Amino acid sequence: MYTLGIDIGSTTSKCVLLKDGNKIKATSLVVAGIGTNGGIRCMNEVLETTNVKREEIAYIIATGYGRKNFSEANGELSELSCHAKGVHFADPEVRTIIDIGGQDAKVIRLNSKGILENFLMNDKCAAGTGRFLDVMATILQVPIAEFENQARSTQEPAKISSTCTVFAESEVISQLANGSKVECVIAGICNSVASRVAGLAKRVGVKEEVFMSGGVARNGGVRDALERELQVSIKYSEHSQLMGALGAALFAYEKTGAAK
Ligand code: ADP
Repeated sequence: MYTLGIDIGSTTSKCVLLKDGNKIKATSLVVAGIGTNGGIRCMNEVLETTNVKREEIAYIIATGYGRKNFSEANGELSELSCHAKGVHFADPEVRTIIDIGGQDAKVIRLNSKGILENFLMNDKCAAGTGRFLDVMATILQVPIAEFENQARSTQEPAKISSTCTVFAESEVISQLANGSKVECVIAGICNSVASRVAGLAKRVGVKEEVFMSGGVARNGGVRDALERELQVSIKYSEHSQLMGALGAALFAYEKTGAAK
């Protein structure tokens, strides 16, 4: 039996096609989020790569900011529940999830059964989110996928003191004008995001194991900085960005009643 989870976020759409509630049959990621056709493209991609037909999918759950506008779904659930579900399935030892996406950051505490104990979210301010990194990537004309290598190539991160994205943008421009190296500025940008999110994490209370989900988990510069700030090691996986979609696919399987 197939179930599908789809996470339509602010910048990307992600799909996980699950077989019998426990095997990942296929995944897809389209860089187009809410307000676009990213959701349907993302779903079609997993169907095409696997030759599974839409009618063969028993249940579809949508999550993410765009979850209410995806008419193919049989139901929708919050990202908090779906990330918790996905991460607990992937790694039951995890007690703290740090999820940084394109538009918000969340810190979620789980108990040993994967039940949500506590959480905090920043969805009011771009600082401390992927948006901040993406704005800086555009200014610096460095692809976001290269931030990790750049940040790791220096021991001298620039200090970004502005907490507001708009002010930080002009700060970065003047640092470059004053001769700061691009890699030092990038390391400083990663540190700035990590320090904002570490503040959130400390308020929730960090309990090990700690796992990073969301697209920013792909940025080792931010992961390293968070490890330094929180003094813990942080796990992540190649599927980190897909955890919400995975959780949605697992909930979809439960909805079919086949799990009982
Ligand atoms: P959303 O669900 O809000 O669309 P995601 O969880 O998909 O957000 O995360 C999107 C963020 O992930 C982007 O803002 C970007 O900063 C980051 N990101 C995406 N791809 C990469 C990559 N290859 N390397 C580093 N960071 C990345």
